[in-house]
This record gives sequence, C-alpha cells and structure tokens, in this order.
Amino acid sequence: MNQGPTFTAGFDPVNTLRPIFVVGTRPEAIKIFPVVLAMRADPRLDPIVIASGQHPDMCSQVLRMAGIEPDISLSLTRETGSLNELVSGLVSQLSGVFEELVTTYNPAGYLPRLPGTFVHGDTSTALAAALVSAFADVPVVHVEAGLRTYDLHGPFPEELNRQLIARIAIFSVAPTMPSEANLIRESISSEQIMVAGNTGIDALLWATSQPVRFSDERVADVVASEGPLLVVTAHRRENWDHLDDIANALLRICSARPEVRIVLPLHPNPKVRDTLGGQLSDQPQVILTEPLEYVEFAHLLKRATIALTDSGGIQEEAPSLRTPVLVMREQTERPEGVLAGTLKLVGTDPDTIVSSTLALLEDPDEYERMSTADNPYGDGKASERIVQAFNFVLTGQNPPHAFGPGFSRSFVLSRTGLDYASLPHQQRSDDS
Ligand code: UDP
Repeated sequence: MNQGPTFTAGFDPVNTLRPIFVVGTRPEAIKIFPVVLAMRADPRLDPIVIASGQHPDMCSQVLRMAGIEPDISLSLTRETGSLNELVSGLVSQLSGVFEELVTTYNPAGYLPRLPGTFVHGDTSTALAAALVSAFADVPVVHVEAGLRTYDLHGPFPEELNRQLIARIAIFSVAPTMPSEANLIRESISSEQIMVAGNTGIDALLWATSQPVRFSDERVADVVASEGPLLVVTAHRRENWDHLDDIANALLRICSARPEVRIVLPLHPNPKVRDTLGGQLSDQPQVILTEPLEYVEFAHLLKRATIALTDSGGIQEEAPSLRTPVLVMREQTERPEGVLAGTLKLVGTDPDTIVSSTLALLEDPDEYERMSTADNPYGDGKASERIVQAFNFVLTGQNPPHAFGPGFSRSFVLSRTGLDYASLPHQQRSDDS
C-alpha cells in the first residue's frame, strides 16, 4: 500500500483540500452537518458548503443550528413547481459554480484541491450536484447510498434519484449492509463501498443531548404532559393524493381516543398545508405547527408515544428514541427497521391507519416489542468513519476501523485518476 508523505504533518493552507458539500433540503442538512463538522476538525480539509436553494429556509435553519454558514448560497426560481424546472434550475446554477471552483482550485498542472463532492441521499439537489460534479471531473461521494424499493414510483422521485446517483458515484457510503448488498447486486464493486451507519443517528444523538426550549407553548405543554402523544408528518409527493385520507384517519383516532394528543408540524408544501391544515385546524386534540427546529423535533419525537409518518429520516431516528413508527407508505426503502420490528408499514388507507394506531395504543405487549427492538441504522459514529475513510483514500494512512466488509483504497483511486500520495507536493503562491 502506498504510504506517500504528501498530506502528513506540515500541511499548509495553500494545499488544504476543499471537499465540496451540496445540500438543499432539511433532511440533507441534518444528515450531512455531522460530516462537515467532523471534516472541519481536520486541519488538512476545509470543506466548501453549497446551499442549493431547493428548500432554502428549512435547510439554512439546520445549518445555522450546526454553526455552518454556507460558502455559496444559490437561489432558484420556482414557478411551476415541476421536477424538470427544479432539476434544470439546479443543474444550470451549479454548473456555473463548479466551473469557477474548478478554475480556482484545480488548475492544470497543480495539485487538484477539489478531491470530491459529497452528496447525500435522494433529493433533486443530490442528483443535480452529482451530475454537475461528474461533468466537472470532481469525483462524487454518495452518502446514504444503496437504499432501494426498486419501484421508480415509490418513493418518487427519490428512488430514481438514488439509482442514478449510484451510477455516478466513485465512492458509496451505505448506511447498512442490506443497502450495500443492493449496490453490489447492481454491479457496483464492494471495493468502492463503505458501510458506515447512518449519519442521521449522529445528528440525532447530538440533538437530543442539547437543551431544548420549545418556541410553541402548546408543544411545550404537550411534551410536559403525560398522556398518549402522536407525532405526525406527511409530505411525500406520492402521498399528495392521499392527504385527505390521512386527515380523515387522524380525525377518527381523535374521536376514538379523546385523551390522545397529536402534534403535526406542517411541511411548507402548499398541498400539505391546504389539505391537512384545512381539515384538522378545528380539531382541539390536534396541534398544527410550523416545521419545528430540529432540536425541538428530536425532543418531541423522544416524548412521542407513536410516530405516524411518510418521512424517510424519521423511520431511522425514532427507533433510537424507542418510539414505534407507523409508516404511511405502501413500501419503504428502509426494510431493516421493518425486519427489526421498529417500523410497521400501514400505507394511507384510513381504516388501516386507525386500526394499527389504536391496536398499538391498546396492546402493551405489541408496544413493548416495537419500542424495544434494536435500531439497525447506526451507532452515532458514521461521520467519523466517513472522514477517516476519505482521508485514508487520499493519503493511504490511518485506515478507518472496520465496519462492514470494507472497501479498497486502490480501487476507488483507480476510478478517479487522482493519487495524492504519489503527486509531488507543490506550493502555490497565486491563490493564498
Ligand atoms: N424534522 C424537523 N422538524 C420537523 C419535522 C421533521 O427537524 O418539524 C426532521 C426529522 O427529525 C428528520 C427530517 O426532518 O430528521 C425529516 O425530514 P423530511 O421528513 O422532510 O424528509 P425525509 O426524511 O422524508 O427525506
């Protein structure tokens, strides 16, 4: 194994590497901030954070909370709300940014200082950034790779985005071994995959260790109360036609169990706000709120008796907090939780949502089974592993502690054309 001296002690700012992170939505920001912070702790790495403008408010709220000021913030024009408008806007804005970054940091004849672009998960931002980065010849690292339903319509367009990014990525960070197995089945070499756990668990453990002050007094009161509490979120595109059914189910749960309280942070999407907000605003057992700050939401989820959700991230987080999850989707790309017994798929049929919720509230044995199953999604150290692995690929030094079956540094490098350890150490004086 080449153990070249290039990035060892004495690394100077001119030769500091600038990995790029592109984030656009709340879940991406939540799951990528621990990686950015872990990377910042390494003096050789100075990440560039680009906020794509996909969901600017919710994304910047999370980044602010983590103390991250984006280096570049893009703003998108959204008129129709279509995916084509979104993705073409992202590609066009990001391509300008990448052109500039490549001119500044990767000029011909010098040590390339953009060693990779980190994209997360399955959003339009992740897809557009992966594409633009690959076209700019900056290798793509895909965090939270390998989740699959193999149904391009569910979740839509996330399943498609994940599959496409998998083709583009040079290095795939899978959260679990089943996700890694999906990638291997798709002919991605096990030598370019690392199983790290999910960085969302790193973020969650941090968030629940923080003191909390709820900005909405109704939420503060209900968290301090004793009775059964449901936390509900719904926003997925494939559920937009089922929001009436979800609202109807919640109303029926309230009439069947008058002591139940529901907190429902409304996603900013207008369809979600109109339908759920419109149908539930008069029900006194339901507290409709704006999206909660992440630390508040993490504490609320911890207090909740049950989470009813179509969210991906909440399926991973809730089991760490011993909160059973009823998933309002027909299928999930997170089958590990279903197998472990912490998640149950209930779809969007109101009868099933009502009967599953009441059954769980009324059956202590079933509740105990779901709430005490082990969380298969991570141990809170995923970000550390990712940064160690990235450094190891770049320098050949300090391999990460094994987690899963491992990856091959030389294989990943052979796909990039970069080998920092064998390049001469060059000083640059023109860009300090
Ligand atoms: N979340 C939050 N505030 C809220 C609702 C959710 O901070 O009011 C967090 C939640 O803890 C999880 C993430 O947002 O980490 C999930 O985001 P979302 O459901 O929008 O996306 P998905 O996970 O489905 O991609």
